[in-house]
Amino acid sequence: MRTKLVAGNWKMHGNFGANLTLLTRIKEAATGFAPACAVCVPFPYLAQAQSVLAGSLVAWGAQDVSEHAQGAYTGEVSAAMLVEFACRYVLVGHSERRALFGESDAVVAAKFAAALKAGLTPILCVGETLAEREAGITGAVVTRQLDAVIANLGVAALQRAVLAYEPVWAIGTGRTASPQQAQEVHALIRARVAGCAANVAQNVQILYGGSVKASNAQELFAMPDIDGGLIGGASLVAEDFLAICRAA
Ligand code: PEP
Repeated sequence: MRTKLVAGNWKMHGNFGANLTLLTRIKEAATGFAPACAVCVPFPYLAQAQSVLAGSLVAWGAQDVSEHAQGAYTGEVSAAMLVEFACRYVLVGHSERRALFGESDAVVAAKFAAALKAGLTPILCVGETLAEREAGITGAVVTRQLDAVIANLGVAALQRAVLAYEPVWAIGTGRTASPQQAQEVHALIRARVAGCAANVAQNVQILYGGSVKASNAQELFAMPDIDGGLIGGASLVAEDFLAICRAA
């Protein structure tokens, strides 16, 4: 039986004052939650997240990680560094990283490998653009993105990871995939994993991300293959994020 997970992606937002208010409220309200709940914060705020959330039911993590272990890679942050802040999760392959920072499937797979090796749980993001959806190649795109990781590390690696289906056209646009549209792709992703290992497919959490709000979370999370959400904008407002967690 899979449990639900709701993870916030703060993107490049926050400051010490606002973070403290947000993290404290989430931590206090999360005491009664059955679903797991996590926040992925900008690197400079990892120490603050650790300090506020340690000992609570809320996990924390980062939004990116270097594929390299260490060395002359100016500006990069290694998986081992994230472990020093007691991160549990790290996003890899978010569509903004793929589109704006040129991360290829191969780079994403290498980042995924680096995260796993350090003991972090990577949240692998996959999803199609609007043009790809309209061209009828959604399945081919998400399969390609997923296969890059499976080919590199083997399907068993997904036992220690989370998947997130995030249609690019739904991220930050206010345009959510319908529960049926999302379920269709989630089922396809699970079937693809099942083609390699049925038990892994049965257990892997697949989150939906893309303009999830308190008002649409419940119907999305009711779908059989949707195991929670990856939440951008709404994760910056405590009561909105908490309402989504409660919906899970
Ligand atoms: C995201 O950044 O992963 C995301 C899903 O953003 P939003 O919820 O704002 O669409």
